[in-house]
This record gives sequence, C-alpha cells and structure tokens, in this order.
Amino acid sequence: MELSEEQFRRYARHLILDEVGEEGQEKLLQSRVLVVGAGGLGSPMLMYLAAAGVGTIGIVDNDRVDITNLQRQIVHATGSVGHLKVESAEETLARINDGIKIETHPFRLDADNAAGLIGRYDLVADGSDNFATRYLLTDLCARLRKPLVAAALSPFEGQLSTFRPYLGDGHPCYRCLFREPPPPDMVPRCEEAGILGAVAGVLGTLQAVEVLKELLGLGESLDGTLLIYDALRVRFHRIRIAKDPDCPTCGVKALANQS
Ligand SMILES: [Zn+2]
Repeated sequence: MELSEEQFRRYARHLILDEVGEEGQEKLLQSRVLVVGAGGLGSPMLMYLAAAGVGTIGIVDNDRVDITNLQRQIVHATGSVGHLKVESAEETLARINDGIKIETHPFRLDADNAAGLIGRYDLVADGSDNFATRYLLTDLCARLRKPLVAAALSPFEGQLSTFRPYLGDGHPCYRCLFREPPPPDMVPRCEEAGILGAVAGVLGTLQAVEVLKELLGLGESLDGTLLIYDALRVRFHRIRIAKDPDCPTCGVKALANQS
C-alpha cells in the first residue's frame, strides 16, 4: 500500500520516527485489532488506536451509555447517554480519524460467538470488567494464537500484561498466574467499588501503547511479566509470571491435547 498525501501529513510524527516510519505506519493501517469493552479502559485505548491509524478497529460491547459512566469513559459524551456504547464510540473515533474502519459488535462476548469474532482480528485488547470475559479471552486467544493485551482495574490500582502463550517456554498465560476465576461475589466491579476515573485512563493509555508496540514489533513486550500501577503510592512494579507446566490453557499437557 502507498500512503496518501493526507496520510503523510496526518501521521507525520510517526513517520519521522526511525522505529515506525512509512513501513510501520503501513503496518498499522493494515492491522485489525479487537477491543473488548468500550468502558474505562477501552475509551482512551480506542481513541489512541484510532488516532494512530490502526486500520480496522473492532469494538465489542453490549451496554448502553449511562450517565454514571461519563466520569471515566471518555470516548462517550453526555449527548450519547442511552445510546449503544459501540455506536457512541464509533462516532467519536470517526471524528478523530475518518481514514480508518470501525467494526461494531453490539453483543456480549460468550463461548458461542467469541472464537469466530477473535479469528477475524490480529490482536485482542481486553478492556472488559468481568472475569468470565477475561478467562474466555485467555483460553481462546491462546488456542487461536492471537496476542492478548489485557488490563484490569481496582479503585486506585491497575494491572497490565501481554500474553502470547502459544510461543511456548517463557510465555505464560493469565491462567498460569491465576488458575481459576475468583467466586463472583468476591470481586466488586467498578460499578460497585468505585474508581478514580483517571486511573482507568492511565491503564487504558498504557494498554494502547503496548498494542501499538506489539503491532509494530517494537521494544520489549510485557509478555511474561505483569505491570502493576499503584496510583496512591505513585509506583509502577513489574513482576515475572512463571509458565505453569500444568496450566490447563497453555501447559505441556494442554498443548499436547490440542495438536
Ligand atoms: Zn497458562
């Protein structure tokens, strides 16, 4: 593909970077990324991915915009209250960049529809707020060999990692870290626990950076580690995740069963 005159101007600050350049920008424009959840994490992530020129962005979310979302879900505006989140996000992204394609999926990701959807994208970014979706994505992205950039939030803290367990040794998955989801009543979601909105913004933005790096093959991946952001103490920690040989998703036995 050849960049147009308009694209040369729009992406000038990418093109000037040796690490991106014309080749990298073309790579971004040809990429297909699925963002799960147009909420606190998805909002800044979607906006930066659109601005960066990720050529096709899929958004999956079955919710409608509620006024209580607006404190952190910055892709939505007051006028969109009551509208489907995927449609509200699509409008914002089209205003940011009319040179990319947005694919909206206004349903809840489940075991019946997820594999078909994930199969159509190069990379999945998990900005969902529940464990059912997180574990579903963990298992399916491992099986379908799609990089998964996943973030999670608590009121003043966030976690972020990239999972590529299909690469074998040294590449764990989320289940290597937490084998099973906690009981549903143990984990309050943003709705119940509250959250400082900008904390979601920090994590969603970091997530966008890691998605772009994965697409461009740039720098160090978070694969094999978990990044933890502690907003109150203003600290970032990065811990190693060991690959669990008995992991039901990516362990030796699991992989042997698949092949
Ligand atoms: Zn694993």
